[in-house]
Amino acid sequence: MSDATDVVIVGAGPVGMLTALTLAQAGASVRVLDREEQIINSPRAAVYFPSTLLVLEELGILDELDAIGFRNRNFGTHIPEFDYHSVVVTQPVEGIAYDYQLHVGQHDVARVAMEHARMLGVEVLFGREVHGFEEYDDRIVVMASGPEGEETYGAKWLIGADGARSTVRKLAGIEFEGHTWPERFVATNVKFPFQELGYEQANFVCDPVNMAVIAQLDTDGLWRCTYMEDSALPVETFEDRIHQRYDWFMAGRKDYEIVSASPYMLHQRAGETLRKGRVLLAGDAAHATNPCGGLGLTSGLWTGIVLADVLGAVLRGEEDEEILDRFSDERRRIFWEVVTPAATENKRMLQERDMEQRKKDLEHIRALDTNPESGALLMLFAYKVIGDVLREGSRWADADPSDRVAINIKDRKGQIH
Ligand SMILES: Cc1cc2nc3c(=O)[nH]c(=O)nc-3n(C[C@H](O)[C@H](O)[C@H](O)COP(=O)(O)OP(=O)(O)OC[C@H]3O[C@@H](n4cnc5c(N)ncnc54)[C@H](O)[C@@H]3O)c2cc1C
Repeated sequence: MSDATDVVIVGAGPVGMLTALTLAQAGASVRVLDREEQIINSPRAAVYFPSTLLVLEELGILDELDAIGFRNRNFGTHIPEFDYHSVVVTQPVEGIAYDYQLHVGQHDVARVAMEHARMLGVEVLFGREVHGFEEYDDRIVVMASGPEGEETYGAKWLIGADGARSTVRKLAGIEFEGHTWPERFVATNVKFPFQELGYEQANFVCDPVNMAVIAQLDTDGLWRCTYMEDSALPVETFEDRIHQRYDWFMAGRKDYEIVSASPYMLHQRAGETLRKGRVLLAGDAAHATNPCGGLGLTSGLWTGIVLADVLGAVLRGEEDEEILDRFSDERRRIFWEVVTPAATENKRMLQERDMEQRKKDLEHIRALDTNPESGALLMLFAYKVIGDVLREGSRWADADPSDRVAINIKDRKGQIH
């Protein structure tokens, strides 16, 4: 068995690596295990709100990611059936540091966080598939198959950041409460000049048949086009249908090049608890949402950050273990009371079938379009995922500025889309 560490994290995705970096900065010894040979590069999170940017800045990796990605200030909503197109432009808000959204691949976030975590002594081991653990009063032993056969890793605490199908969560016997949506999402990365067709750098396309979320990924012409299809269609042939769907989004143009594509199931689920004994959950392993509105990683990484903050304090002897139960309660509350209603409403609006409701949605979006505060509200909304950081003196205590700025978003009705 390798030397024991304070924490073993399963999963070198963005949440596992940001949590590892935060814990290492708090003085904990950390080992990260991942079953892949390297960080996964499938088409997933690409757009980061200010509530994420402040984490990246505080951890010291924002400048590097800023240099890899690009800043976007324009968000388009398109309702083709009414020939309606609106743009909300983000605005600087006194009291918050960012007036933009950063576009960068989540694999880059994980990689840069990993490089910084390794500099602080975090050991990141790929090719390790975790399949079991044994828990004792004062420690936990994790079992994994590695390149040399069976391996064991001791730690005081185990964090499952191993995605929505989390092995750690299943091994701990924690139920994943909620529901799975009937539709399938297809996320594609494609080279195509969407701006020539009037798309902004980030867009919602609202349509009962052809809903989509379209966003620019880099400055070399790569875009993300994510759309929905009926999950009754055979998943094996999803690639054959991409061309037919592109025909609509790209107005019949054929000058595109598909770079990658993946089908996804959508969930609205959270662990019945995010702490059981010495096992803790973060990221999609803790709670998984449909990605409409980009709240998945946005909220999951804050679950990892709050966890790292309180667990660091427990390891230093500054807090009782009971704070880990409060962590579980608070992060579940944020998921069910903040993330799920917003993501569900976004998904509904994107694919609404009822004509009367679509007309109401149009009026709602028109009102946002003419509201001079829309740009500021767009910037502030995602801060709600931070919730209570649970500890006085925490480095994150002042992270949520929404009660300090001029616009009081808590009093507003409706969503920002
Ligand atoms: C199409 C799409 C678009 C999205 N867009 C956005 C967006 O714009 N903004 C946003 O905030 N969110 C978005 N999301 C959600 C976001 O991608 C997820 O929330 C994010 O990937 C969660 O990160 P994670 O680190 O928790 O898990 P993952 O990224 O799933 O990483 C889990 C890691 O655990 C490893 N692992 C799993 N099992 C084991 C095991 N048994 N042993 C060892 N290792 C294991 C895996 O190899 C993997 O590396 C999107 C999702 C989709 C599907």
